[in-house]
Amino acid sequence: MKIILATHNTHKLNELLAILPRKCTSGAIEYVSLAELKNFQLPEETGSTLEENAALKATAAAKAFGLPALADDTGLEVDILNGAPGVHTARYGGEHADADDNNRKLLGALEGKLLPERAASFRTIACLATPQGNTYLFEGSIHGHIGFGYRGENGFGYDPVFIVDGCKKTMAELSPEQKNKISHRALAFEKVADFLKTFVE
Ligand code: IMP
Repeated sequence: MKIILATHNTHKLNELLAILPRKCTSGAIEYVSLAELKNFQLPEETGSTLEENAALKATAAAKAFGLPALADDTGLEVDILNGAPGVHTARYGGEHADADDNNRKLLGALEGKLLPERAASFRTIACLATPQGNTYLFEGSIHGHIGFGYRGENGFGYDPVFIVDGCKKTMAELSPEQKNKISHRALAFEKVADFLKTFVE
């Protein structure tokens, strides 16, 4: 069985390949990345939830190639901001915002708030879509607090401002191996991995 990994992000691709199984009850599983499939544009993330966006991307890839496809969408949800930036996480600091713009806006939005008021979670929704139009959703999340500045050199995105509950380090202070054991994305894709072991197309 072949499964498409519907992402252009090579960092993410490697993370997923480390977690996903190579075998299921009906035989071997081979993963095909979008880099190997030319002329395919992932759809815009126009959904109003992470679930909708993950399903949009997975379904588009599954239909385009006639193969099951996996996609995901991640949001950072800050309790005191009523779950923002949430589905707008990638573009929180503006349409063409980079990680620095996003983090600056977030730290600004929390100015004056003490640590207990800065609780937040990363939440990933992974979606497996079939060419027939079935979708299966899996969720992973990690809880923590938004710090008061940047700490750590690893990772990407909001990692330098996200202090992981229970370890006092930011996600950017963890090694890639440590992050990949506990991250929101790893937890969601471990559920996908379990599901795939008995999945029959
Ligand atoms: P995506 O759905 O994986 O593209 O993630 C949306 C946005 O969430 C990204 O642009 C990043 O800013 C942020 N993000 C996703 N995963 C992580 C992570 O593991 N650490 C830090 N930021 C992340």
